[in-house]
Amino acid sequence: MTPRNSIVPVFVPHLGCPNDCVFCNQRTISGSLRPAGAGDVVRALEEARDKTERAELAFYGGSFTAVPEEIQRTLLEAARPYRENGFLRSIRVSTRPDAVTAEKLALLQTYGVETVELGAQSMDDAVLRLSGRGHSAEDTVRASAMVKGAGMQLILQMMTGLPGADRESDFRTAEAVAALKPDGVRIYPTVILRGTPLEALWRAGKYRAHTVSDAVETCAPIAALFLREGIPILRLGLNPTEALSGGEAAGGAYHPALGEMIYSKLYLELAREKLRSLPHIPRRVELRVAANRVSQLTGRKKANLLALRWEFGLEEISVSGGGFPPETVEISEIL
Ligand code: SF4
Repeated sequence: MTPRNSIVPVFVPHLGCPNDCVFCNQRTISGSLRPAGAGDVVRALEEARDKTERAELAFYGGSFTAVPEEIQRTLLEAARPYRENGFLRSIRVSTRPDAVTAEKLALLQTYGVETVELGAQSMDDAVLRLSGRGHSAEDTVRASAMVKGAGMQLILQMMTGLPGADRESDFRTAEAVAALKPDGVRIYPTVILRGTPLEALWRAGKYRAHTVSDAVETCAPIAALFLREGIPILRLGLNPTEALSGGEAAGGAYHPALGEMIYSKLYLELAREKLRSLPHIPRRVELRVAANRVSQLTGRKKANLLALRWEFGLEEISVSGGGFPPETVEISEIL
């Protein structure tokens, strides 16, 4: 079946970025060191035309608005015919908060860019400094207001487990991100990529890795917060790739199923809260959750159901899906 819509990613690796964030190795993520050009845009869009009816073009990987204006224009100009013939539904770019100005946003809008993704990463200035980000939390506040003020969609990216961060500071970052009312968020628990300054710090014993289990514990309440606030979570954890699974992820929170593990923990906690709130705990219960969350509440190999059954002394526990909001778990007694 031909998909009706899809995202066509074009990576702009490290292009225009004056920084060296300790965790960053764009080569690993994008698989290329060569800056993208107009030919890459056309090639990616032509390939997509064979597979889908409409698409969204996404410039990921670097700091798009920090790239010389001429190059930005060249890349966007290459997409113009596809925008004009209706194939491209919209265009999004990712960039740094300190590379956003009214003029830069106006240029993007001239070419039909509708969404700007900002790498906030943390809202704690000490964490930003220790991570070599080169911008402040205030830059993210200012840039977010400008993107929204220009009538564009705002997506904020945050990371957990950066140098100097802990579970509490990561949660405060999530609260500060939610307060900016983005149209979506991406949450990336820190992965130690080979060849990065972070790997050197870790190997020297100056950075404690944010393990998969740390990421699950840290991100479950963060994901719950965004669900409560009605802010879509577009991504939870780095996209699994062969390179990352094959050793490019030297340590830290890399697991191909990390997102599922976090959601599973989140729904386990929601069910616990709900059961604890009952005046008396029935012996046989049915948990009800949004239809697409049933497997996350159930857990891998029914681990969540087994845990709840044991903790609350239940004789029987089952799960069903329905039209519930994603942040709720309902419970009824099985009679
Ligand atoms: S700003 Fe982005 S591209 Fe530049 S070093 Fe940091 S993470 Fe990498």
